Parts: sequence; structure tokens; C-alpha cells
Amino acid sequence: MSSVTAERKDFAASKKLRDVMGQYFVDLDRGAAEGKKTAWCTSVGPAELLWAMGFNVYFPENHGAMLGASRMATDLIPLANAQGYSPDICSYLTSDIGAHLKGQSPMQKMKLSGPPKADVLVFNTNQCRDVKDWFQFYAREWNVPCVGVHTPRAIGDIGGEMIGQIADQIEALVEPLEGVTGQKFDIDRLRETIAISKRTTLLWKAVLETAKNVPAPITFFDDTIQMGPAVVMRGLKEAAEYYEILLAELKERVAAGVAAVNGERLRIYWEGMPIWGKLSALSSQFLELQTCVVASTYCNSWVFEALDPADPFRSMAQAYSDIFICRSDDRKEAYMEHMLKEYKIDGVLYHDAKTCPNNSNCRYGLAQRVQKKLGQPYLIINGDLNDLRMYSEEQTRTNIEAFVEQLLQR
Ligand code: SF4
Repeated sequence: MSSVTAERKDFAASKKLRDVMGQYFVDLDRGAAEGKKTAWCTSVGPAELLWAMGFNVYFPENHGAMLGASRMATDLIPLANAQGYSPDICSYLTSDIGAHLKGQSPMQKMKLSGPPKADVLVFNTNQCRDVKDWFQFYAREWNVPCVGVHTPRAIGDIGGEMIGQIADQIEALVEPLEGVTGQKFDIDRLRETIAISKRTTLLWKAVLETAKNVPAPITFFDDTIQMGPAVVMRGLKEAAEYYEILLAELKERVAAGVAAVNGERLRIYWEGMPIWGKLSALSSQFLELQTCVVASTYCNSWVFEALDPADPFRSMAQAYSDIFICRSDDRKEAYMEHMLKEYKIDGVLYHDAKTCPNNSNCRYGLAQRVQKKLGQPYLIINGDLNDLRMYSEEQTRTNIEAFVEQLLQR
């Protein structure tokens, strides 16, 4: 191993990130305490509609990731298993329900009361069925409505008819949501929210794309932290303002040739879910190996270029059906090919997450087909987003080391 310092370089903007995210959680807590209606929303659900209708908008997948990153998840999952939620289904779902049953949350360490109780739960099945089952648990628990959008999966061509049907489903949410808020829907407010969301999403895309530079100024591990506002605050101007600051800092890094990984020797693409409880250990290992994980499908999943304030419902339908996770394998392959070329990738790491078959994309020969076309070697690691019982740290470390060695010898 080289003597180059293996030190993660944080961003000056990160202090602002903590403030912005902290304020989001404080507002969420305060809003709920003051009687503002709270809507739970899936991460690629119709958040713009909910913000525009004046809801407190809460994203339980973000809470799931917090349970994973804080390593609380593994102890909480069995509580949900005991209620009949299998250890094989989404570990965001099982750890979140376990946290609810035990009355524990990482939000309490932030001096907040914990996840706000929902007045309505709004899902989109574009990513998986688990989100609907997850929300229905709470709908039964609190006797509140659970409404949503049923998007087809494994979509090839996104045709006008399909978009029309999804747009109709989103528009049909307005009436039950008005019933919860007691306020009339305002289309102009929705257009404004979509405009802000689009600005946020394009800035987030620009942030990610700075990693096309060699050396890359940011890594996938940084992205998993920096993506917070794009996930939970799109539709709020503070998210867009934050990414302007971060992007400016990244551009300075690029101009000055500052590498996120000192002595960058290799560039890796991360496919699949993060392993939340091991991000820090993995980040350190790649730093030591002078290998930069420069891009991922996961962090790019919050880039919604199709959003258009002039055509709110159809453009939301288009944007939310366009995401990698709900596309057919040939579309996924085309996307991967584009990304591997754009980011000058040397090798691909596929994370086969035990409890998320929906976002484990190496189970039907995709890795082999992409390698055959483009030639980059790949490594499949077995693990999970939250359930660390499914992950062997020692074995993964050894496999990553061997993979990097193999790439260096090419
Ligand atoms: S996509 Fe995977 S991780 Fe996300 S909610 Fe669905 S099953 Fe869970």
C-alpha cells in the first residue's frame, strides 16, 4: 500500500448541510406539535403535491437509512419479524416498524420527539410493493388513510398512455388530500413547487457530475450524506440554495485539482443500495486503496429532469416512472453503459442486498452482459442496506482488495 494519506476530506459546505437538515427536522417536529397535518411520503412519491398542499412532509425511508447508519436497525428488525414481517423483506420496513414498536429513533438523539405521526400516508409503488405494505401497517395502527400511485415495474418504453394513467392517479390524490387538510388545492402553488424541485434536482445532478473529472472531487460515500436535501427537501428552496453552495465548492476543487481520494488510481461504479452501517469502514478502505467510487445508480435516483411546471401532473408521472429501479433490464443496461463511459469507470461493484431484490440488479445476468459489452470487470458483494447479519465484513474487505488488485493488473 502507498504512503499517500488516506484521509477523508469533508466539505466546508457540510456545516451548512447540517444546519439545513437540522432545520428540516425541527420544522417537522414543530409543525406536528402545532397541529399542521403530516403526510408520510415514499422517497419517489408525489412530494411536490404534498408540499404544495401545505403538509409537513416526512420520508420514512430516510428514517430507515438513519436506523441503518446508526446501527440501531439490526436489534430492531426482530421486533417486526415477531409481528409477521419476514426477515427477508425490506429491512428499512422491518427496522422502522421495530423502532416504532420499541419507541426508539435516532431522531431522539437530535432532541426531537421521533417520527411524526401521520395524518395520511402517500406511496408510489414505482420502487417496490414493500413501501405500500409498510405504510399500510401505520394506516392500521393509527386509523388514517393510506393512498397512492400504482406504477408498473420493469418498464421498457415509457409511452404516453401509461404516463396519462399515472398522471390521473396522481391527480386523483388531490381530493382525499383536501379532505385531510381541509384546504383547497392550488395549481399555481404546485407549479411553483415543481419549479423549485426541478431546480434542486438539476443542481444535485450537477453536483454528482463533478465526479466525471479526473481526479474526482467527491465520492459515492460523500454523495450518500450530501443527498439528504435532494431526498427530503425537494420542493423547498433551501435545498436548491444548499446545492448552489456545494456545487461552487466542488467547482473550486476541480479547478484546483483537489482529489477526494488522494492519488486516485482507479474509478469504481457502485450499483445497488448503500450498506448504511458500513459506509464509514468502506469509505476508509477505498481511500487506503487509492480507489475512488465515483458514481452510483442509487444517488442518481433523485435526478428528475422531466419535471415541468407547465405540465405538473404528467411531468411528475414521467419523472417518477423514469427512475432506474422501475425500468426493464435492457433500459438498465443502456443506462449503465452510458454511466460507465461518462465516468471513465475501471470496474463495477454490485451490491446484492438480501432484503431488497428490487434494487439488487445483478440477479438476472446484468453484470455479465454489461461486462461483455464494455469490458470492465465487476465484483458482486453480498450484504444488506440495514441488516448487518447479512453482511460479512471480513469477506467483503478481502474481496474488494482482490478486486482492486485485479483492476490494477489490467
Ligand atoms: S426499494 Fe428496496 S430498500 Fe427501498 S423501500 Fe423498497 S425494498 Fe426497501
